[in-house]
Amino acid sequence: MTVWDALVGQDAVVETLEAAAAAATLVGGPQGALAAARAGMTHSWLFTGPAGAGRTDAARAFAAALSCVRADGTSARPGCGECVGCHTVLTDTAADLRTVRAEGLSLGVQDVRALVRDAASAPTSGRYRILLIEEADRLTDSAANALLKALEEPAQRSVFLLCAPSVDDVMPTIRSRCRVVALRLPTVDDLVGALRRDGVDEATAQVAARAAQGHLGRARLLATDDETRGRRAQVLALPSRLGRVAECLAAAGDLVAAANADAQTANSERDEAEAGALRTALGMGATSSGGTGRTKRVTKAAPKAKTMMVRGAAGALKDLEKSQKSRGRRTVLDSLDRALLDLAGLYRDVLARQLGATVDPVNPDATREIASLAARATPERTLQRLEAVLATRDALAANPGLVAQLTVESLALTLREP
Ligand SMILES: [Zn+2]
Repeated sequence: MTVWDALVGQDAVVETLEAAAAAATLVGGPQGALAAARAGMTHSWLFTGPAGAGRTDAARAFAAALSCVRADGTSARPGCGECVGCHTVLTDTAADLRTVRAEGLSLGVQDVRALVRDAASAPTSGRYRILLIEEADRLTDSAANALLKALEEPAQRSVFLLCAPSVDDVMPTIRSRCRVVALRLPTVDDLVGALRRDGVDEATAQVAARAAQGHLGRARLLATDDETRGRRAQVLALPSRLGRVAECLAAAGDLVAAANADAQTANSERDEAEAGALRTALGMGATSSGGTGRTKRVTKAAPKAKTMMVRGAAGALKDLEKSQKSRGRRTVLDSLDRALLDLAGLYRDVLARQLGATVDPVNPDATREIASLAARATPERTLQRLEAVLATRDALAANPGLVAQLTVESLALTLREP
């Protein structure tokens, strides 16, 4: 098993990356980075592709191949997936790899500065120091500018791997300094193949692969996770609930509540653990049960120092709260986006049926629902609905500050049956 196995339906990308990783092995030779660069290795890479295509997986696989200790530039190809170099990168424990993940709505200048500092130092054990930014599209302007400086004058043995949905999602000045690796959306067959290799049965794989609309991670969840399947069924049943205004508002409320519940499940444990760890680090005690939290060390400090420490602690806790809030918001938006994509897939199937188009349905398991919706509306009306769903997706993606409840309510009212 090699590091490239994680990439589904990306043969051309694998070929490019494998060649560059092979060139990178020259960096340890007599002419070092120069020889590697001549052979096709470069310092900045931008991995693009729609959600679910696996751009982060591709960047990580490449990072592993760059760190592969079995690759020698001749017979052994980089990215064996088994050596210590590959393994530590894939498990995110490699000393020479730093990953930055935008868990909240944006990626700030602090995160990037730390990364840029790292990039300036020589690798400890591997060939390169690798800096992976999973969501370069979420860089704030000041963060992007800080990064740009590092890309303009790269350290000889550092590699930046940036990921973003498309080249238009990063600043042109950054884009122009990167070699772009464009991933394509995996086909249904690609996804079925991947699920079958995971051990999923054929029938389940077929339905999950279609319903996932090209998203590998989602296909895996749909094939194996009951809660994900239940949530999808709930969304597909939604259109038939949209009659009177009150029903629309209730349906919208359910959708948002489900997204909030997702965020709660995903984040609450971690939020508490982080707050506890920070309190301990600040000497405030790990309890979250409302104690005053001041330790002897703080109370014994000189009055001025004491005030400063308390103020600093309050600031740090406030910062943490802010970043947790941002992460929670992001989880809600992600969950809503998945629901809207399911809904768009459903209306797309309805439209295809109304027009007699012979295309594979996204929802082969919802033929009754599709037939019933198709019988109750004109194709024009279905198209309007499909457009309304897609417009809501775009609006929420472009303005994360929108009030989700109102936005989804407005959509539900647009979709309602006369
Ligand atoms: Zn290896």
